[in-house]
Amino acid sequence: MLLSINPQLTYGIDTQEINNGPICLDTSENATAGIKWWLCSCIENHDECRSSRKQPDWQPTRILDLGDPAEPLSPRILQGDQVPEGVEYVTLSHCWGLSQPFKLQSSNINYFSTLIPISSLPRTFLDAAAIACSLSQRYFWIDSLCIIQDSKSDWAHESSCMGSVYSNALFNIAAAASSHC
Ligand SMILES: [Zn+2]
Repeated sequence: MLLSINPQLTYGIDTQEINNGPICLDTSENATAGIKWWLCSCIENHDECRSSRKQPDWQPTRILDLGDPAEPLSPRILQGDQVPEGVEYVTLSHCWGLSQPFKLQSSNINYFSTLIPISSLPRTFLDAAAIACSLSQRYFWIDSLCIIQDSKSDWAHESSCMGSVYSNALFNIAAAASSHC
C-alpha cells in the first residue's frame, strides 16, 4: 500500500527534492517541508520500513479521526467497522507526566465517538494533530484516546497488539521534549 503513494501527488513535492539533502528546519513552514522530505525519502528508499509497516489484514481497534485536513479540526473516535479498511494513520508517543491527560473512558466513549471538544485536548495533541494535517493525514492513534483507560479487559487486549499499532503506522511523532501533555 505504501508503495502506491506518489509523493508528488500526495504531498505536492517533486521527488527530485528527495535527493537534494535535508531542509533547514528554522521555521514551522520549513519544518513541515523537512518532515515531508523525510517521509517521502522513507517511502521511496527504505525497504526495511516498507516491509515491516503493513500487515494487510490488521486494523487498529480504534482510531482518532481528526476530520478532513482541509477543514477545521473535528476530532472523534472511530471503532470497529467505523475504522476505514486499510487505514493509514500516524501514532503519537508522549509522556503522560504528573497531569492526567485527557483520556478515553467507559463514561465518555459514546460522546467522544460523536465529537471531542478541541478546547479539552492537551497542547501536545494539538501540535501533533497540526503536523498530521499538514501532511494530509487525518487518522491518529494515541494511547490515551484509543484505549479505554478504565477498562482492564480493553487494556489487556490493546497492550497485546501494541507492536502492531506502531509498526503499521505511517510514521510516529515522538513528543520527546515534553515531560507532560
Ligand atoms: Zn524509513
